[in-house]
Amino acid sequence: MSELTNLGVKAIRDGVADGSFTAREVAEAFNTAVAEAADLNAFIVTTPDHALAAADAADAKRARGEDLGIMGGVPIGMKDLFATKGVQTTAASHILEGFTPEYESTVSQKLWDAGAGMLGKLNLDQFAMGSSNETSYFGNVNSPWRKEGSNAAMSPGGSSGGSSSAVAARIAPAATGTDTGGSIRQPAAFTGICGIKPTYGRCSRWGVVAFASSLDQAGPMARSVEDCAIMLEAMAGFDPKDATSLQMDVPAWEAGLDADLKGKKIGIPKEYRMDGTDEEILKSWEQGKEWLRDAGATIVDVSLPHTKYALPAYYIVAPAEASSNLARYDGVRYGLRDLPDGAGLQDMYAATRAAGFGDEVKRRILIGTYVLSAGFYDAYYTQAQKIRTLVSQDFEKAFAQCDAILAPTTPTASFPLGSLNEDPLTMYLNDVFAVPASLAGLPAMSVPATVNSDGLPLGLQIVGKPFDEQGVLNAGLAIQQRAGFDAQPEKWW
Ligand code: GLN
Repeated sequence: MSELTNLGVKAIRDGVADGSFTAREVAEAFNTAVAEAADLNAFIVTTPDHALAAADAADAKRARGEDLGIMGGVPIGMKDLFATKGVQTTAASHILEGFTPEYESTVSQKLWDAGAGMLGKLNLDQFAMGSSNETSYFGNVNSPWRKEGSNAAMSPGGSSGGSSSAVAARIAPAATGTDTGGSIRQPAAFTGICGIKPTYGRCSRWGVVAFASSLDQAGPMARSVEDCAIMLEAMAGFDPKDATSLQMDVPAWEAGLDADLKGKKIGIPKEYRMDGTDEEILKSWEQGKEWLRDAGATIVDVSLPHTKYALPAYYIVAPAEASSNLARYDGVRYGLRDLPDGAGLQDMYAATRAAGFGDEVKRRILIGTYVLSAGFYDAYYTQAQKIRTLVSQDFEKAFAQCDAILAPTTPTASFPLGSLNEDPLTMYLNDVFAVPASLAGLPAMSVPATVNSDGLPLGLQIVGKPFDEQGVLNAGLAIQQRAGFDAQPEKWW
């Protein structure tokens, strides 16, 4: 049965459809793999019955000769930021512990409607705030990867670190992620898998625990570009319940996959050559250019002059929105309530929030309320919004000269757990290459390129024009075909 867990989305879907194996066999194999991988701490709760029920439904449909759906018979992991009806949804925070939604998020419902089942709810940085998966109330996630010759526990990236760890460890063929400022792409790069953040508005935010609403976007994480295309097709689509949802049809991304880049121009932004970027990452970037040239593309130099202001602007805009979004956790409506003896309403709010939020979440709320306060609003928040506009304009100008942009996903490979969490600024720097596309709402993908001299994966990032997920996926496919990335973490869990 173990070989079934090596299969990705497309292979499982097609194998179930043509009768090579049953969906139940697949679900059982992954349920077993998940149960045996507790050391990764990738899941907050497991839902083996959900996966089995979806599998049985797929097998029954096949017996009746019905269409199984584009994710038919595929069990996936669900980041614990998506509300799932009847299944605890925590955002990895104590303040939501025990919260069981009465409703299903639009994205998860679409996946179930497409024939997928759920293996469980995946661990993440608390409220999706973090880059290492160390801010979860439920303990950090371990990456399945280790440095060669070392047993040090490594970060799977964040915030979608449960997702990246599970997919890289082959205990899930694919998982949902969310990306506010890199949380799909950075963990994908750290663990040698693919992940795409679509154009802002492609996937509904309804039922996704809000972090920074003008940036939050869901997307798939899987081990191939094809699998991401399939799963994104299932997740995307207009939703009247989300006011920022795009009123556009979902293109047939899987059918449109084409790695021939003849006639395409790929831009190389000179400002992404930053101090502190790892030499091996710069080398893989050079290699990426060669691969895309080989696929028929022309490489052109472009400039994104406001890149260095993007990260500071992000760390104003995102906390500002978070401080407002997280005001709803008051001890009245969801999860935890801390009501000291004889306390009044204000005391209850304060006690609940003090006990319920982790340190990083509190830091973000403090930053957010500070930059929005009357005396500092213009100096910080307004300035950051102006920078956001300039960053978007940089991309608009660059896309007059090219069809997509190639850059590293991260400035370094994965790092040992515990090595950066004393220093929030260094931690925030991890997102330096990811955040500009987030501020501009652009589709962006990370694809594994190679492993470094420590044996750790490195990713390359493709950023596309608005709504051009197809162009991003196609450039990703061209890289995938040439990189031939087949490294796997050695099993220690
Ligand atoms: N690491 C970034 C942060 O901490 C991005 C998080 C995300 O994209 N959810 O804000």
